Amino acid sequence: MSSMRPQDILMPQAEGLCCKPGGFHIDPVRPVERAVITHGHSDHARPGHGAVLATQETLDMMRLRYGENFAGSTQAIGYGETIRLGETTVTFHPAGHVLGSAQVAVECGGLRIVASGDYKDAPDPTCTPFELVRCDVFITEATFGLPVFRHPDATGEVRKLLGSVALFPERAHLVGAYSLGKAQRVIALIRDAGYDAPIYLHGAMEKITRYYAQRGLPLGELRPVKGVKKAELAGTITLAPPSATSDLWTRRFPDPLTAFASGWMRVRARARQRGVELPLVISDHADWDGLTATIAATGAGEVWVTHGQEDALVHWCQRKGLTARPLDLVGYGDEDEDVGLAAGETEAAEA
Ligand SMILES: [Zn+2]
Repeated sequence: MSSMRPQDILMPQAEGLCCKPGGFHIDPVRPVERAVITHGHSDHARPGHGAVLATQETLDMMRLRYGENFAGSTQAIGYGETIRLGETTVTFHPAGHVLGSAQVAVECGGLRIVASGDYKDAPDPTCTPFELVRCDVFITEATFGLPVFRHPDATGEVRKLLGSVALFPERAHLVGAYSLGKAQRVIALIRDAGYDAPIYLHGAMEKITRYYAQRGLPLGELRPVKGVKKAELAGTITLAPPSATSDLWTRRFPDPLTAFASGWMRVRARARQRGVELPLVISDHADWDGLTATIAATGAGEVWVTHGQEDALVHWCQRKGLTARPLDLVGYGDEDEDVGLAAGETEAAEA
């Protein structure tokens, strides 16, 4: 009997990560016959596949974004559920990244490979916590795969926002946050901190935020900002996509103060460049400590590193005696953290 190698089970291809014995691709960037999708962000969940296997929430988000006919057929799978695909079995586990996000464990020939998608081990009131899955091969992202990235506690960041709202009651606070996941997490944290006034929404985040509320998340009173008189917005908080916080749209607010919730706000130059007065370091990705602690805890002897800052993480794994390599997958770079580091900016981050 020949023993199976990990690369016989999952292989990077132009379409994405391909599982030949299972007959599927994970998070394919081009249309394929059968796609297994980890979460609803647009770089992972694309339209046009034959069949899609994902959690109900991810399928719903794809439907909201792309319309009813985003795939030939769909199948919902819950956390902890296992299904057989070809010669493999596939099990979904929570990834803690956004609502419905999953790690995909693929088992074949006695080997277990976990494709974690995007993940974080930090608490998030809007999604099921990350579950550690022991495995032989762990496939990890590396969005914040540099030791300089250590995300502070998100509740402390939200306290800064509320402190500023209290200090400047005549100004409108605009919080730039990606519309799937980050915005709803920020709203939930604001509510947890005891703020119960209405929170205003830019039109682009209404649909997805209402969806989160429908799923039972206590987001409090939400109002569309459209049509509200300028004077009435003094002392209020509005969530908006990051691009909106730097354009003409902001003129409808009295003396707007711009905040931005992103892991990249750890890079001061990045905040300055975007004209962000109040940077909030809140990320839906694991930081350096989260990545390395998770890798160690999976017990995996082999680690494949996908999109982000692969080099430092691969090096860290090798120093720990693990087999590690970058997977050169193209097409990922989270929509929710699209202001990544340009070359040469790491020094600035360290300063
Ligand atoms: Zn993502």
